[in-house]
Amino acid sequence: MNELNLTGQKVKFSCPVCEKKFNITIHPIIISELQPYLEMDLFYQSLFDFECPGCLRELRFFYPVSYHNLRQQTMIHLFSENKEKRKQNQLVAKELEKRFQAAYRDQTSFLYKLYREFYTGPITTEFRYQAVYSTQEMSHEVFNLQWALRHDCPADAPVQETRRSLTTK
Ligand SMILES: [Zn+2]
Repeated sequence: MNELNLTGQKVKFSCPVCEKKFNITIHPIIISELQPYLEMDLFYQSLFDFECPGCLRELRFFYPVSYHNLRQQTMIHLFSENKEKRKQNQLVAKELEKRFQAAYRDQTSFLYKLYREFYTGPITTEFRYQAVYSTQEMSHEVFNLQWALRHDCPADAPVQETRRSLTTK
């Protein structure tokens, strides 16, 4: 996991409307603490939108994203909504989780060092992990994490709170 590319990856794209060829930059991994502007794009579901320099049309290019929030010890992987690929994606998600959990335990890894820079609490648990299958779900998760950070509580607290208030009514 030392080969992390946080500046993004250039991909050749061809406009389906005017056929102009150009490069776009994609971000398959996003670390909240280092790239808050990309986190905002996830929240607003605009990460995959861009404009064709030829015809100025709004286009969309989806790709899987691995989002990490170090202060909340959380990682969320976003896959496509394609239902036929769901099984396959679940396997990929499991594999990714294993690799990242290992990286966050490995004291020599880049991710571990980054993690310790932002997370000052005791390391007692693994990262919370989740796979989501729509940009809307991802947006919701980012909102929850930020909400929890603002209220200084663990990442899954808003959900628990909601459950509690539903059951006591
Ligand atoms: Zn175009």
